[in-house]
Amino acid sequence: MSISLAPMRDELGVRPGRLFIAGAWHEWEGERFHQRHPATNEIMIDCAEAGTYGVDLAVAAARKAFDEGPWRRMAADDRKRVLQPIVERLYKAEKELAQLQTLDNGVPFTFSRQSRVSAKGAASVFDHYLGWIDKITGETFPQFSDASNMHYMTFREPVGVVGAILAWNAPLLTFAMKVAPALACGCTVVVKPSEYTNMAVLKLAEIVAECDLPPGVFNLVTGAGGTGAALASHPGVDKVTFTGSPAVGEKILLASGANMKRLSLELGGKSAGIVFPDTRSVAATATTLMGLCSTFLSGQVCSTPSRAVVHRSLVDEFVHHAREQVKSVRFGDPFDPATTSAPVISRLQQARILGYIESGKQEGAELVFGGDTPGGDLSGGNWINPALFLNVNNKMKIAREEIFGPVLSVIAFDTEEEAIRIANDSEYGLAGCIYTTDVSRAFRVARAIRSGSIGVNAYASTPNAPMGGVKRSGIGREGGWSSIEAFTELKTINFNLDA
Ligand code: NAD
Repeated sequence: MSISLAPMRDELGVRPGRLFIAGAWHEWEGERFHQRHPATNEIMIDCAEAGTYGVDLAVAAARKAFDEGPWRRMAADDRKRVLQPIVERLYKAEKELAQLQTLDNGVPFTFSRQSRVSAKGAASVFDHYLGWIDKITGETFPQFSDASNMHYMTFREPVGVVGAILAWNAPLLTFAMKVAPALACGCTVVVKPSEYTNMAVLKLAEIVAECDLPPGVFNLVTGAGGTGAALASHPGVDKVTFTGSPAVGEKILLASGANMKRLSLELGGKSAGIVFPDTRSVAATATTLMGLCSTFLSGQVCSTPSRAVVHRSLVDEFVHHAREQVKSVRFGDPFDPATTSAPVISRLQQARILGYIESGKQEGAELVFGGDTPGGDLSGGNWINPALFLNVNNKMKIAREEIFGPVLSVIAFDTEEEAIRIANDSEYGLAGCIYTTDVSRAFRVARAIRSGSIGVNAYASTPNAPMGGVKRSGIGREGGWSSIEAFTELKTINFNLDA
């Protein structure tokens, strides 16, 4: 039976997209666009393309609220009280938000509701940052010399108007990771979700709009790349926080130059999962690494170790267990509890990934399984059967470029030094994982890998620890105190006590 997501959309009463600017919802008479569901390519919602005009309105509202409004001057306790209801409302609406996220990007509903990308995850991110509000402290400094009676201290002040541009793969979590610390620090915000995932973010905006924020503190514009570019280059924006591809990250970097915007760029990766001969279990490691590429978001996660760097002695066993893992993959209606995996986000991305699979074959890698598209009832969606490549070397395109889909490449190594060299021989440096039971090796290799974070025997980011990348994986860190630093400027004040 073919899948249709329209009944769920109708049951949830999804209405055409609006913009939220200066404390009010605006129906949009201007240009509009359609968002399709990746499992079926049905049109799910009609959204406003804010464009330059909509962005101008939103930034003007955020600018006014920052420069003239009470938000940034508000006592910590008051700011916290205004934001506090968001946490409870997110918990209350968690099922609907998870449904909307599944209607947006096709992540199976069970994952949408339970995993870190859930609304409960977003609520805990807001909760975490609300806890920081009364702890955003500066420093005092000991007197440096007897020559004067000057005393120095620092304050952390909100960075200003923030443009937050989101990727599509985890809209609830990404929204929370940007909006919660920005508001906690006293910034005003203009958010732009990905053009592929508007419904969950529109609902989040309704939840934020229901609290007693002064008008203009929180604004939402929707639209595609042009709307994002208008926000990223707007002279009224002080900081851009962006999650997305390195290609767009580069454009944002260039666009930010005119007024020296502050930037946080959370970009892509080509992380290595290094499997040493002393790994606790080859079966478990292969199941995990293949599972990250084949289930949940089907490899469409920035930190996915898409290069399995496996000790040569383990390769056959690794491939055997990866093949077993893939047998458990089920495509289908994302609301069916049996469905394990998401389709890829668009027809364009599906064609791009199939192109990578073709290039792998042409460059001499061995396609062990997958890499084709299922037919029948699934042919209307953007599905790709999870692929495993063997005999990959690090010069091949499939080993160098971020595919962002269900493709795992196995690269064999002989020595620890070689494994480190392969892992570091990449334009990217986001994450990675080391599988070993040797603590000294784990420490040595973790220190030697050039990445923003690395796991030992498992990898997962958490809202209260920094996450981010080196090299083409980005600039800055998100998580815990790092985000407070990212949404504040340090001001040094000195007092002359002899005056
Ligand atoms: P993308 O770069 O195509 O789009 C991201 C956002 O940028 C969208 O909102 C889009 O509309 C906007 N945009 C497009 N052109 C723009 C421009 N010229 N100026 C400003 N904004 C513009 O990325 P995507 O396909 O949505 O997401 C996938 C990418 O995101 C992958 O590379 C993935 O690794 C990365 N990602 C990184 C993290 C992280 O934490 N490091 C997390 C999730 C996703």
